[in-house]
Amino acid sequence: MKDRLFIDGAFVASASGQTFDVVDPANRQVFHRVARGNAEDVDRAVQAARRAFDDGPWPRMSGADRAAVLRRMGDLIAERKDELARIEVQDNGKPLPEAVWDIEDTAGVFHFYADLAARLDNSAGQEIELAMEGFTSKAVKEPIGVAGAIIPWNFPMLMASWKVAPALAAGCCMVLKPSELTPVSALELGQIAFDAGLPAGVLNIVTGFGAEAGQPLTEHPGVDKLAFTGSVPTGSRIMATAARDIKAVSLELGGKSPLVVFADTPLDEAVEWIMFGIFWNQGEVCSATSRVLIEQSIYVPLLERLAEEAKKIRIGHGLEEGILLGPLVSPSQHQKVLEAIERGKSEGRLVTGGGVPAGLEDGCYVEPTVFADMAEDSWIWREEIFGPVVCVKPFETEAEAIRMANDSRFGLGAAVMSADLDRAERVARAFRAGIVWINCSQPTFTEAPWGGYKQSGIGRELGEWGLNNYLETKQITTFD
Ligand code: NAD
Repeated sequence: MKDRLFIDGAFVASASGQTFDVVDPANRQVFHRVARGNAEDVDRAVQAARRAFDDGPWPRMSGADRAAVLRRMGDLIAERKDELARIEVQDNGKPLPEAVWDIEDTAGVFHFYADLAARLDNSAGQEIELAMEGFTSKAVKEPIGVAGAIIPWNFPMLMASWKVAPALAAGCCMVLKPSELTPVSALELGQIAFDAGLPAGVLNIVTGFGAEAGQPLTEHPGVDKLAFTGSVPTGSRIMATAARDIKAVSLELGGKSPLVVFADTPLDEAVEWIMFGIFWNQGEVCSATSRVLIEQSIYVPLLERLAEEAKKIRIGHGLEEGILLGPLVSPSQHQKVLEAIERGKSEGRLVTGGGVPAGLEDGCYVEPTVFADMAEDSWIWREEIFGPVVCVKPFETEAEAIRMANDSRFGLGAAVMSADLDRAERVARAFRAGIVWINCSQPTFTEAPWGGYKQSGIGRELGEWGLNNYLETKQITTFD
């Protein structure tokens, strides 16, 4: 099944007749060969989704019936939690406990959208009050059609669920293109959909590279909506391609998210949230706390504590007990992060880390790395690194902290820590970012909206906002 595509309810060979290698980043060894999907495969998948949408039962069944299938998918994911988590560790490198969270969250996302699907039945339409007499009007929600979803590698199965669960809940049919670096759990999701009784063609999965499978999906005229998570350059390209056919687009892109720490924050708590914010998932998190702004009076002691704690982090294979930092996802990402660190050394002071940990040279490991004293216009302070690398700077006033935090082309996450909750709320409101945390950083909730300002994206996932991505609004007006 791993070297097949999931199209029209069956695992089938790619038209390319080719496979590609998937590498375990802990030892750089090939652990799977996966089908190398191409434009012909994408066309078959979109046509299957189109048939399922235009003539099949899925968009026409009640929300409650769709909910039953989604719930079963969530249950099957939960039942297979340990096995799926181990796949994520091997595919992505993350420590096992974090992979288990991902899978638990993924099951939760399916259960959450099952409930929302069931609620769609109750929406007989929203009555609209008209200024003119003699007419009545209402707004109803309908599935947008065939969705094309393209996802990254940092939370492989969870990122799939953020798109698949709401799209299916809405009544859409879809084609999912997972990242070429971590495609294995997506194929398992195909099996789970099959086992849960999802009708053929509703969910199709094409593994392959961006240029060979992603691009044809964005270009395909049979796709009504594109949902993308990944880098800004790819997002920009997808949006440009989508413009040709006026496809609806939602984009979840990169970030360089700040955390502002005021002096009234207990140092232990600040260290804990900074560490979690940047070293969780090897820092390969779109909303990672990659810029820390510390009030001048606690700058030196907090930086020292952070460096001390960063040195204590246990690095190693994600399946080993007690590991907090695994390898980066791939040799190329490893190379990219090491190059970013070299650049950082010429721009700021390397406080700790910066190298490959001794004894772990076979895998794609990078030490937890802290930089300080870089200029505000330096590359390392401004660009997303997507690794365990944090940049720290001091500030004097609240206004200065807000200005520095907002001085970025990104606007995904932002966080503030202070014992003064009025001040924290004021700063939270002043951030130009879509996800803001007070006295914490990174916790993500299925019920709450997720997405970015500025170049961090367009639209919101999760919660009811996530469902709206896959719904059209129709006005029905009657002359009484
Ligand atoms: P990427 O843009 O390189 O790839 C993402 C996906 O796009 C992959 O499946 C890839 O195959 C596909 N792709 C590449 N070129 C394409 C093309 N021309 N047409 C269509 N598809 C194409 O990103 P990545 O390296 O996989 O992921 C890292 C990036 O994702 C980071 O910038 C990170 O911030 C971002 N991200 C954002 C969020 C969020 O919620 N905002 C979540 C996770 C990751």
